[in-house]
Amino acid sequence: MIDGKKSDICIIGAGISGLTAGALLTKKGYTVKIFEGESVIGGRALSLNGDTLSMETHTKLLSRYNMNIPFSDPSVESIFNKKLLKGYTLDLGFHAVGGGAVSTLRSVLAQFDEPIDMLESNTGFIKENGFDIPFLSRSDKIRMIPQIVRLVFSGESTMKKLDNVPMTETIKKYGKGKMKITLEVFSRAISTVNDLDSISTGEMFRAQKILVKGSKPVGYPKNGLHSISQTFVDIIKRNGGEVILNSPVSKIIINNNEATGVIVHNEEYSCKTVVSTMLVQHLFTISDEKQFPAKYVQYIKTLKGTGGLCAYYSLDRINPQLLGKTFLFIERDVGIEGNDAVGMIDFMTALPQSGLAPPSHHLVQAYIICTPAEARNKKILEKLKELLDTNLKRLMPDCFSHLRWALYPAVWHLDGVAKTINDIKPDIRTPIKNLYLIGDCVKAPGIGMNCAINSAIMLEDILQSDS
Ligand SMILES: Cc1cc2nc3c(=O)[nH]c(=O)nc-3n(C[C@H](O)[C@H](O)[C@H](O)COP(=O)(O)OP(=O)(O)OC[C@H]3O[C@@H](n4cnc5c(N)ncnc54)[C@H](O)[C@@H]3O)c2cc1C
Repeated sequence: MIDGKKSDICIIGAGISGLTAGALLTKKGYTVKIFEGESVIGGRALSLNGDTLSMETHTKLLSRYNMNIPFSDPSVESIFNKKLLKGYTLDLGFHAVGGGAVSTLRSVLAQFDEPIDMLESNTGFIKENGFDIPFLSRSDKIRMIPQIVRLVFSGESTMKKLDNVPMTETIKKYGKGKMKITLEVFSRAISTVNDLDSISTGEMFRAQKILVKGSKPVGYPKNGLHSISQTFVDIIKRNGGEVILNSPVSKIIINNNEATGVIVHNEEYSCKTVVSTMLVQHLFTISDEKQFPAKYVQYIKTLKGTGGLCAYYSLDRINPQLLGKTFLFIERDVGIEGNDAVGMIDFMTALPQSGLAPPSHHLVQAYIICTPAEARNKKILEKLKELLDTNLKRLMPDCFSHLRWALYPAVWHLDGVAKTINDIKPDIRTPIKNLYLIGDCVKAPGIGMNCAINSAIMLEDILQSDS
């Protein structure tokens, strides 16, 4: 189609799922328009340029993506007034890409001959006094490998049987010694849920497959997440697609149970297929819920996301032993849902070659998991902040004498929909013909970015089979 208001596919949102879908579908010859409500690409995988970022833009973007800054050092005003973020790239959240070199992202970009420069890391474990790196020693692995291989590499039929088995039961059955702590920590870190009763064993082992395939389980794109989004935008444009910023979709047009277009700035754009990447819980803010079965509306509205407290620490010195490494920790009896809380402290971004901090500064990123409700509770957040700081001090006791500034964003929609036993993610297909959902809210392999990217890959197959 060549009319400027018509296209084959309208995608709502230029986050990682919308951009991946845009790249894959334009390659297949579809005409694609991506409408992004904000002035920037990337969605929740967004890089902020500290040189030009104003406090107002920072606050606005954080609130758009369900985040705020409950704590900082010095105050947020001072950080901006003193221009302390100059030379930094701040990714909106903390995004360790599960799978590193073998991540889905890498394999998608390889299709376009667009390799990304990714830092990769082993994971270590923070103890009361010091740390273990790697998390599992060679002798741990030798002892655990037969069990791990059996569990992680079981076929899909076994995984399906394990889908409704909570991790609590699996840990009781298999978890002794190092195996117990491995299952406790990794299942929480991967799902961003602390409550082992609601984490699905099947989902966890599926997600761990990718982590154990590569030698380094997590990765971080050099120069931040923007490099990924921009690569996708370049591919889309090269293939004749459009990414239109500052263009919130105010309505999905649905006639006779079929999506036929979208409304943006009061103008109608018609298309054969509408793809939404927005948080599914918000779907009915731009579509008429009466057009959907009541049960579906009820189901979508009650889906829950995941939450967390993140930290960015700017330090003027780092213990060289820590540089480039990623550490997990578990804090017992914290008094939050799941009782114990897991977190991560990452020094990949502290490497000079990460390109995220000015010379002689180091950016350390961290997060601790909690529920969306806990991420809005100041008392709980105070406790979680203390735990993040304590774990950083365990790695580097003198870290706070080297602190230039710290920002602690709280987030109550880290993952769009928590992948738990009770919260089954919705399908990509919806009850409305030609309306599809993709992103980290829908049923696709992996969690977070991996889920978002995989859902875009699945959409490509679905569109081919539905046409
Ligand atoms: C603090 C934080 C930390 C995280 N850490 C990790 C991590 O370490 N590893 C990991 O894998 N994942 C992590 N995630 C999750 C990861 O960011 C998401 O899974 C991923 O970015 C989701 O991409 P998406 O395309 O599905 O959705 P989004 O990024 O939310 O994209 C949706 C886009 O749609 C746009 N939009 C919404 N409504 C409209 C409308 N009406 N019209 C037009 N545009 C609209 C939004 O502005 C947005 O750009 C983290 C998330 C956060 C917030």
